Amino acid sequence: MEALGVDIGGTNLRVARVDASGVVIASLSERTSRDPATALGQILALARQLDSASVVGLGVGIPGRVDAGARRVLSGGFVDLSGVSLAENAEAALGKHVVLDTDCNMALVAELQLGAARGCRNVVMLTIGTGIGGAAALDGALLRGRSSAAQFGHITVDPGGDLCACGRPGCVETTSSGTALNRLIAKAALPPGTQVEALLTSAAAGDPVATRILTDWVRPLRAAIDSLVAALDPERVLLGGGLGNAACEALRLAPPVSPWYQSPVVAASLGNDAGVIGAACSAMRDRQTAAPVP
Ligand SMILES: [Zn+2]
Repeated sequence: MEALGVDIGGTNLRVARVDASGVVIASLSERTSRDPATALGQILALARQLDSASVVGLGVGIPGRVDAGARRVLSGGFVDLSGVSLAENAEAALGKHVVLDTDCNMALVAELQLGAARGCRNVVMLTIGTGIGGAAALDGALLRGRSSAAQFGHITVDPGGDLCACGRPGCVETTSSGTALNRLIAKAALPPGTQVEALLTSAAAGDPVATRILTDWVRPLRAAIDSLVAALDPERVLLGGGLGNAACEALRLAPPVSPWYQSPVVAASLGNDAGVIGAACSAMRDRQTAAPVP
């Protein structure tokens, strides 16, 4: 058994064919279109190229809010797929069962099965990239709420802070995402494009500017993590996405403050593959209980 997994990143849209043990057999990617109809066309075209008789379904990780039960995209950021009937169109085009979920839920599914959360039943995950995504597993099941729980990028860390895309001020996404880091770099008058790895190296050597930038970046993230740990008591907190490793390292500059609420914070281990693997695994898992595609 195999399935196709789709990961819609801020830079690249990637589709992979994945086997039942979570191994990526083949994958294709293109630069992500900001236009929803074009992005849908990209997904279908890449999926057709990778489809085979052994593929039982297609899973799509969405950068935005999703009602996974109803297979509806509720909203999106850099590409908003809420208006393109993604599940219905993909099912009609490919004749395969389709599942939708947030990109962070898909990544957590992969990390639980194969990565840094293997063997855990209670995990919180934050994906740190252009924005901040969230996912949690409680007693082994993804946290769902009414439809779109775990939007941890929108935990308030500064009530008087900058307005977030969600409409509220001071969400951790506004202070500790990659976008926020770039803003801090610009504010410190460092060259645009300064890499976080260079900041980490400079900070380790005692450079005060790099230390200040990284501390300002992760201190609100630490506050969000502390709140999540107090609320959900996870076995571990995973940091994934393009900046997950760097954020993990930078968090040493902002150690946890409360001895009451402690969980280890670790870097996710599947890197860029987490999204496509989790999406394909979700499609395979869901296929076993779903009705056949008409
Ligand atoms: Zn927000």
